[in-house]
Amino acid sequence: MPDVVVIGAGIVGASCAYYAAREGLSVTVVDRGAVAAGTTGAGEGNVLVSDKEPGPELDLALLSGRLWHRLAEESEEAEKHAGLGDFEYEPKGGLVVAEDDRVLRALTELAGRQESSGAETRPVAAGELADYEPHLAPGFAGGVFYPQDAQVQPMLAAARLLRRWPRVALRTGTEVTGLVVQRGRVTGVRTDAGDIPAGAVVNAGGTWGGEIAALAGVTLPILPRRGFILVTEPLDPAYGGLVRHKVYTAAYVAGVASEAAGLETSAVVEATRAGTVLIGASRERVGFDRTVSLPVLARLARQAVALFPALAEVRAIRAYCGFRPYCPDHLPVIGADPRVPGLYHACGHEGAGIGLAPATGLLTTRLLTGATPELDLTPFRPDRFAEAAA
Ligand SMILES: Cc1cc2nc3c(=O)[nH]c(=O)nc-3n(C[C@H](O)[C@H](O)[C@H](O)COP(=O)(O)OP(=O)(O)OC[C@H]3O[C@@H](n4cnc5c(N)ncnc54)[C@H](O)[C@@H]3O)c2cc1C
Repeated sequence: MPDVVVIGAGIVGASCAYYAAREGLSVTVVDRGAVAAGTTGAGEGNVLVSDKEPGPELDLALLSGRLWHRLAEESEEAEKHAGLGDFEYEPKGGLVVAEDDRVLRALTELAGRQESSGAETRPVAAGELADYEPHLAPGFAGGVFYPQDAQVQPMLAAARLLRRWPRVALRTGTEVTGLVVQRGRVTGVRTDAGDIPAGAVVNAGGTWGGEIAALAGVTLPILPRRGFILVTEPLDPAYGGLVRHKVYTAAYVAGVASEAAGLETSAVVEATRAGTVLIGASRERVGFDRTVSLPVLARLARQAVALFPALAEVRAIRAYCGFRPYCPDHLPVIGADPRVPGLYHACGHEGAGIGLAPATGLLTTRLLTGATPELDLTPFRPDRFAEAAA
């Protein structure tokens, strides 16, 4: 019997398994699909502090950014020891650009508050933007550079984290259909392949975390927030270095924070090691509808070309969509559920689950082992929605 069953083999479940096993716990990870079959396989790999308002999410992002860095160091050690293995970590930094002086003032004010909360920020004057991004369109009023922004390949990262420790057993193609509850305590999961008893259960079900909570008779109001990504052909070496950092306009920050259900788009552009450029991302709450929307893709393409005019000459080769796990207050759910002893939640990270995964895994492990978490988890507690509704 494992110490812990983690439901979900996305980046968050993988991180929970990694840190729990690192502390000596035995872990079984159960997923009804394959590794990264959920939203982890359908997003980008931005590890951002730049788009976080000061407060609990920025604190979580700063911790997680440091952990990604350490995991990357461990990945570099892979050839010498049994380390993680490469997952395309690139600490390239992010450049947020402002369309006009009014937006620049708001961006600079936000950067000042982020800096006071521990983020590193560098103001970039209009005339200096080309030093960061030589192919950026002219006419931007200025920007802010965030050296702590980074990038990973999420699917590879999830697979690497799951493989790191022999104490982690993986059961893909296995659906959790219920929770085993004995004397008021969760003591395992029921699956379509039989029961798995465990000392504790972690709900890392992402966008489906609310459905898993419902199996225990409790509510987590996690909703899908759809996003499309456009992928370009690998760039000709002549375009080498076309996009050097993560680049987006200040409008993106407002889009992330918005509670609107309607369509929002604001392009985030990033090059990958494979040579493709990822152009994300739209946001809309339309349930689990996977229908490809050409108008949305066209809007993303237009916004990306407005940032980098040379992209107009580059072909898009594919597009895909995924469903961010959206919580009404935009914060993830991390912690033991006081309503169901033995059940822990690590889900609801919306558009930041890749970035926030290591911190979520580490903090969840602290709770599982009875150690003191590095951050106050009160803002993320699972029962906060019931209180808000009361
Ligand atoms: C377009 C788009 C762009 C994005 N870009 C970024 C980005 O740049 N940076 C960033 O940080 N985040 C980004 N995100 C968000 C990020 O992808 C998610 O927050 C993250 O992947 C959530 O990971 P997870 O492990 O919680 O969930 P998932 O990856 O969805 O994993 C949950 C797993 O649980 C499994 N599961 C569910 N129910 C059951 C059950 N009953 N039994 C067994 N298994 C079950 C599912 O099969 C799934 O594999 C983006 C998302 C989208 C859609």
